[in-house]
Amino acid sequence: MIRYYLFIFIMYEFLFAAYFYNIYLTNKTEYHQESIKLVQNSLESAVNAYEMTYDDAYARHSDKIAKLVYEANGASKEKRDEIREILLNEFMDFFNYEKLNGLSGFHIFDKEGRSLLRFHKPYAHDDKIIKQRYSLQKLYKTFSFQKGFEIGVFQDSYRFQYPLFYDGDFIGSYEYSVDSQSLIHEMQNFYGDAYQALFGADCLENLIQNKRIKKFYNKVKIGTDIFYMKKDHDAKSIEKERFRYIQQLDSFKNALKQTKPSVIDYSFKGSHYAVVVYPIEDIEGKIFAYILVHLNSSLLEHFKDTFILEMFFITLFGCMLGFFVYKELQNRRYFKELIDLQHDLIVVNDGKGIVDTNRAFLDFFCYDNLEKYKSEHDCICDMFIEVDGYLAKHNGNGMDWIEYVKEHPNEEHKVKMLNCKKQERIFSVEIEKIEDSHKFFILFRDITKDLLLKQELEKRANFDTLTQIFNRNRFEFFLQQELQKAERYGNVFSLLMFDIDHFKRINDTYGHDVGDIILKELTALIKQHTRDVDIFARWGGEEFMIITQTNIYQTEMFAEKLRFVIEKATFHNNLSVTCSFGVTQYRKGDTLDSIVKRCDNMLYSAKESGRNCVASLK
Ligand code: GH3
Ligand code: MG
Ligand code: MG
Repeated sequence: MIRYYLFIFIMYEFLFAAYFYNIYLTNKTEYHQESIKLVQNSLESAVNAYEMTYDDAYARHSDKIAKLVYEANGASKEKRDEIREILLNEFMDFFNYEKLNGLSGFHIFDKEGRSLLRFHKPYAHDDKIIKQRYSLQKLYKTFSFQKGFEIGVFQDSYRFQYPLFYDGDFIGSYEYSVDSQSLIHEMQNFYGDAYQALFGADCLENLIQNKRIKKFYNKVKIGTDIFYMKKDHDAKSIEKERFRYIQQLDSFKNALKQTKPSVIDYSFKGSHYAVVVYPIEDIEGKIFAYILVHLNSSLLEHFKDTFILEMFFITLFGCMLGFFVYKELQNRRYFKELIDLQHDLIVVNDGKGIVDTNRAFLDFFCYDNLEKYKSEHDCICDMFIEVDGYLAKHNGNGMDWIEYVKEHPNEEHKVKMLNCKKQERIFSVEIEKIEDSHKFFILFRDITKDLLLKQELEKRANFDTLTQIFNRNRFEFFLQQELQKAERYGNVFSLLMFDIDHFKRINDTYGHDVGDIILKELTALIKQHTRDVDIFARWGGEEFMIITQTNIYQTEMFAEKLRFVIEKATFHNNLSVTCSFGVTQYRKGDTLDSIVKRCDNMLYSAKESGRNCVASLK
């Protein structure tokens, strides 16, 4: 049994753990999507912050720059130098100021896509840079603003490129380049705890060939892939040990092959972290880098704490529930044991049928269990033997037996049933409602023995045990009745009393047992000659009484007949006996004593007259 409970408890714990874990998984997906969205927003916000500044500068400066570029287009070297000088004087302060905010390059191009002026490198100019720049090629085709990441000859950067128009004609362009690291720094202001950028080796091809790569980047091998990471950023953003740990994770290696952003939860030195791996496309739409956004907490941590707390309460609740269920089951077991101890047949009924019984019930009908009994019987009433004075399936006006018993609570209800050994038993039936329930008990108490005893007692109270005819007690009752009837209705009745002559002698000669036999034989003989209306009783010893519904003369004749029959009869041991008779008739005003006394006197007279004769007095 304990194993069964343990199994239920483990299942219960397991189900809740699975439920919470499912919530965690749903939350995790949502949390990951949210983190990715925030990284995307932070990138857009960082770009927008720069773009707003540069849009503002374009609005203020573009007319002046466009006029000078217009003049420089196709001009002599001297003229172009002169224009460069003017531009430097005019905008160097702006460039230097914006450098503090991450601007790494400010570059003006003429109509053919040649470099007119690099503020960041004023001595280098007139190279046809459009050949190397996809972004420029696009702008010179569409004459529209361009922005995006682009790897240059020296470093990677985010470019904002503006077309220049003079008198409605396209005459050149200029660009602001923001070092991508500055942009990433900017992103950090919006979301996340630490940022890193991993550049794919193939995208930095130009830089690798220039060997400048060593100056700015560190090589990082992750799995089989080579990545480059900005030098100044490598150590600062996240402790090296933790970063090395992340590099071992298959999920991380895998994320660096994806074109979609992903989030990796991990634990390091007992703390939980997460890293968002966010792929960055360059202006041509190729993924060239992955921004790593390190988060110093992960949902896992939160989940772990709440999970422990939730499981603690669920376990507590489970234990309490288990305790109550256990107590309830224990109570039921006690109840079951208690009703099984009863010898009465006990049935629990819910109004539709039997829901439980005690052992005595099943034993009575020889069934192993209730299911077997129910499969063969719809109703206990199937077992009732339908006889008068006992309950049947339907009683009175066809009322169902249970309803009938309920409707007549003060009556004594009895049923007769056969047990499996075909023995008939009588039960008293009681129905008791079970408190706080629609169920009720039906109690069948075996009263077979009680009934027999009652019958026996009744018999003993009214009949003489030796001769089986009415005893004196019962006779007096009848005599009293007769007296009342006679008094009220004027009936005639007579009383006849007789006594065996010299009976003592028989006892003395043959023994008391023989005397008894003769008493029985004599009784049987007299019974043969009495009518149904005659009341024949043993008055005491060997004296008998008969009440006849006739007058004294007829009774006298009846007494004479009896005297004769007795005289002629032979009894046990071939013995003969005679009896003396006293007869009298009811007189108005007679009492029991008076009429008996008169009759007794007559008997006495008969004895006095020599016995074996009848004496009567009206
Ligand atoms: P009598 O003719 O005067 O009646 O003489 P009797 O011997 O019959 O005398 P009586 O009627 O006074 O005596 C009754 C005797 O009947 C006494 C007793 O021994 C005997 N007797 C009374 N009751 C029983 C009984 O139940 N069984 C037997 N065997 N004898 C009984
Ligand atoms: Mg006598
Ligand atoms: Mg006698």
